[in-house]
Amino acid sequence: MSNTKKKFDKKGARGMDEIAKGIFAPIYPVIAENLIRRFGITKGTCIDLGSGPATLSISVAQQSDLSVIGLDYSDDMHEAASRNIKDAGLSDRIRLLCGDVHAMPLDDNSADLIISRGSMFFWDDIHTAFREIYRVLKQGGKTYIGGGFGNKELRDEISATMIKKNPDWREFNRKNISPENVERFRTMLDKIGVPEYDIILGDEGFWIVISKTQPGAL
Ligand code: SAM
Repeated sequence: MSNTKKKFDKKGARGMDEIAKGIFAPIYPVIAENLIRRFGITKGTCIDLGSGPATLSISVAQQSDLSVIGLDYSDDMHEAASRNIKDAGLSDRIRLLCGDVHAMPLDDNSADLIISRGSMFFWDDIHTAFREIYRVLKQGGKTYIGGGFGNKELRDEISATMIKKNPDWREFNRKNISPENVERFRTMLDKIGVPEYDIILGDEGFWIVISKTQPGAL
């Protein structure tokens, strides 16, 4: 198992599930609202990459008519996700799929919306992952992929709590949203030839918005 994947074994999944239902709980409805309001996409298929305990998938399903697919390569995360989805009464709206973002078991041009929070910073090969994302995105579809806490108040409050719990978290978070990291993603998007994208960097977080205007792959 790769070192990155080991982070998301049973122990990692338990920790993420606790955080998602505890300190991070208020961010998911806000992030869901931000992305639904921004794109106005409320029906069709939404794929949540690196869905973890499925807390963002649940908020998106609660605020829209989208059918959500939570894709993650960790069986332990899926175990937690499955419980959370059942507890939310959303088993008919959210399907869990075991898979790696670098080779997704999903058809070309099949997703209206591809979302992901806090996962891309762990991907081994962002070029391959984003080529896959572009392949799976439908013409007219959008992505909202990155990391963040939804708004300034939540970001400031949660960052302070996380740093108190684990002083290393400050550096982890700083690196993810550093200008060098943003540039790394921008260079990658240009290199693989994504024709239309925006990068949001601000209070709501760091998010890559791809707008697919032509069908097909890169
Ligand atoms: N998105 C969730 C959230 O915000 O609560 C979970 C975030 S957690 C920090 C990162 C997730 O990405 C983990 O569930 C992990 O298993 C998943 N992940 C990381 N690399 C992945 C890959 N290459 N393919 C699929 N899932 C991946």
